[in-house]
Amino acid sequence: MARVKALVAGNWKMNGLKASKKELTALAKKLGKEKPGCDVLICPPATLIATLKDAAKGTKIAIGGQDCHAKESGAHTGDVSAEMLKDAGASYVIVGHSERRADHGETDADVKAKAEAAHRAGLVAIVCVGETEAQRDAGETLKIIKGQLKGSLPAGATAKTTVIAYEPVWAIGTGRTPTADDVAKVHAAIRKALDARFGAEGAKMRILYGGSVKPSNAAELMAVPNVNGALVGGASLKAEDFWGIVSAY
Ligand code: PGA
Repeated sequence: MARVKALVAGNWKMNGLKASKKELTALAKKLGKEKPGCDVLICPPATLIATLKDAAKGTKIAIGGQDCHAKESGAHTGDVSAEMLKDAGASYVIVGHSERRADHGETDADVKAKAEAAHRAGLVAIVCVGETEAQRDAGETLKIIKGQLKGSLPAGATAKTTVIAYEPVWAIGTGRTPTADDVAKVHAAIRKALDARFGAEGAKMRILYGGSVKPSNAAELMAVPNVNGALVGGASLKAEDFWGIVSAY
């Protein structure tokens, strides 16, 4: 198994005002004192990217977006392009989060186009996949995940440009998580699919687990083979909680 440096990413979702900068400053202080063995990323709402990028100056905290349009610019009221995120200070962008897939009807093809736009802009795309509870109960988890990977990942994705996040939809914001065994099974299947399609690059691609990660379960989840970090929602909003997860490395 290739040795892959872990990434712990915080997804603030639609939370955060300018005052939330203090959370980043508090996190930076902790990171300055103790060096964790993982990369650290915060994905705030687009309105805060420039503010947080500024606050993160001189630290190792990277800043990312939560979504991008598939086009560079044009008549798309309310949308933000990957190039704009990059210009504001982002180096990553999440694409295909289940909330985007559900609330905005994003298909695998849409997600792929967004990941391609991210790559063109020089952003790392964090491509999310995950099954719903009904799909899980029907025993379709692996079939769904493989289909989403096939449809959402652009050709030519590399370990430097692309991160996968496995987020079971039923585990997001619910406090429920799959067992370590279940996570291991899905991550092994994802690794296999990445190896088959991208060869040596696939072996190095980071596969994050997301869905109710918190300080109390981070160490157990992060110890699962092929789990190369976490995508954290609720527990990323407060520096203290997020640090509890980052320091599991
Ligand atoms: P959660 O969200 O950690 O609040 O479950 C994870 C996510 O949606 O990325």
